[in-house]
Amino acid sequence: MNLQPLEIAGAIHGPHLLILAGVHGDEYEPIAAVRRLAETIDSRQLRGTVTLVPIANHPAFASRSRTGSDHLDLARTFPGFRHGKPTEQIAFAINELIEEADFLIDLHTGGLTMEISPLVGYMLVSDAATLEAQRQMAAAFGLPIVWGTSARLEGRSLSAARDANVPAIYAEWGGGGGCNPDGVAAYIQGCKQVMGALKMIADLPAAADVDRYVIEDDRDASGHLQINYPAPIAGYYEASAALDAMIVPGDELGRIYDPQTLDPTPICATQRGRLITRRVLPAVDVGDCLAVILEDPADKGSFDE
Ligand SMILES: [Zn+2]
Repeated sequence: MNLQPLEIAGAIHGPHLLILAGVHGDEYEPIAAVRRLAETIDSRQLRGTVTLVPIANHPAFASRSRTGSDHLDLARTFPGFRHGKPTEQIAFAINELIEEADFLIDLHTGGLTMEISPLVGYMLVSDAATLEAQRQMAAAFGLPIVWGTSARLEGRSLSAARDANVPAIYAEWGGGGGCNPDGVAAYIQGCKQVMGALKMIADLPAAADVDRYVIEDDRDASGHLQINYPAPIAGYYEASAALDAMIVPGDELGRIYDPQTLDPTPICATQRGRLITRRVLPAVDVGDCLAVILEDPADKGSFDE
């Protein structure tokens, strides 16, 4: 398995940053952003090395889907196997890149089916220096939501980074098909701001002012973006709650309409928090994720409803 990463070696010795795009094959803003980074990072002005993987999961990209034809989710397959199924081989190859790196950024979106509020996340790892480095990378990336989640999640690139003690963040921005230029720009800016914080580049583009919403939640279920609010029936889903809305239990998130009778089945929230993910592809099967609500473990019901 050869991922054909692009390596930009700076004129001055410094940290080694690995940036991944296309871990999921239907997430296009990261792929465009990494290509643009490859075109614009000037090795003469660079301290350290940047390794770029523009499309980590070629089989999934070719399938226009989250996964390739073996249907394994690459983001649940780390550290992979050298002689395993295609997705396991990709995970193994990326794991080797992670072990060689000093820092990792893994870029995602909601893919064809979901849209996700711009957020940057990391694992609440036990190593204090690594955790602090991740907090600083996440703050530097500059997206509105910063989400520290359970370090016990397995199979992710961040799990591989945790095991290699490599400070790592991931990011999410939008989704729903196509490639939003605002998302591409946010990812280019975010990666460059992290490179600036790591003192790898000097002349930074001006940072946008963002209202920061920081949640650190060490509960086991925290950090899952794919298993919440599973559709109880198949049908046509129409989301009603807006992304970033503050939700309380009982709020209607959307409705599944029976494709024949058009009878609606309301999907209601059971949690309090910020709606950070919602399904945008209307056709749903039983079990498809419809929404993710970001709970604040410190929240005792104080925000204005
Ligand atoms: Zn993804």
